[in-house]
Amino acid sequence: MTTARALPPTLLTHRRTAYRPRTAEGDGDLLASKFSGRPWLKADEAWPTCPNCNKPQQLFVQLNLATLPQPEQQRVGKSGLLQLFYCTSSDPLCEVECQAFFPFARSVMARRIDDPTGPTNLNASGPAEPFAPRRIESWEPIEDDVPGYEELYQMGHEISPEEEQALEEAERPATGDKLGGWPAWVQGVEYPNCPQCDAQMEVVLQIDSEDNLPYMFGDMGAGHLTCCPNHPDVLTFAWACY
Ligand SMILES: [Zn+2]
Ligand SMILES: [Zn+2]
Repeated sequence: MTTARALPPTLLTHRRTAYRPRTAEGDGDLLASKFSGRPWLKADEAWPTCPNCNKPQQLFVQLNLATLPQPEQQRVGKSGLLQLFYCTSSDPLCEVECQAFFPFARSVMARRIDDPTGPTNLNASGPAEPFAPRRIESWEPIEDDVPGYEELYQMGHEISPEEEQALEEAERPATGDKLGGWPAWVQGVEYPNCPQCDAQMEVVLQIDSEDNLPYMFGDMGAGHLTCCPNHPDVLTFAWACY
């Protein structure tokens, strides 16, 4: 943890609280918030497969909304699950063939399950080499997450050299895995637009390379799970790297 100087008030006016997942080795129960591990699936549902290679996708993350910090529940929902599946096949190389760095790629599935109750499938066959699961045990607030200079610029905030230096020293927006807050964009501001209403989608979760998930997005890239503010079922994931 850095003990950076306080950010200037001009930046703190844009402050949002982000939440860092505190994780532990091992899978949680079926309904747990987790990176990798066994997802909640309906009794008659197979493990989701990639339409490009027909192999089971990796579960990247499952979020149980009832366990999220309350301010985030107001944004993303108070109950149900969000699940992100991603194909990590290297032969064929689905990430490239399907351009999985762009939103709404075929080899990626992000979805909401409103009512995860009833009979479940505990025996679905997942990927041949599943990632080591990490269950999310709690969320630690980052109370002074602020936008990066490119996003500030888009918001009409002409950033001063002092502000730029303060962002750098404080390492804001925060990198690493985090819920909410301001995205640490790698290649500039890249919010997807909802295919149904064209609204700018909102960030739910930032997933960084080799943080909780043992996966590298290109060359140390970072990805963002986003949701349409008007269509709770429109979710997607995209990433960028250096
Ligand atoms: Zn695939
Ligand atoms: Zn929409």
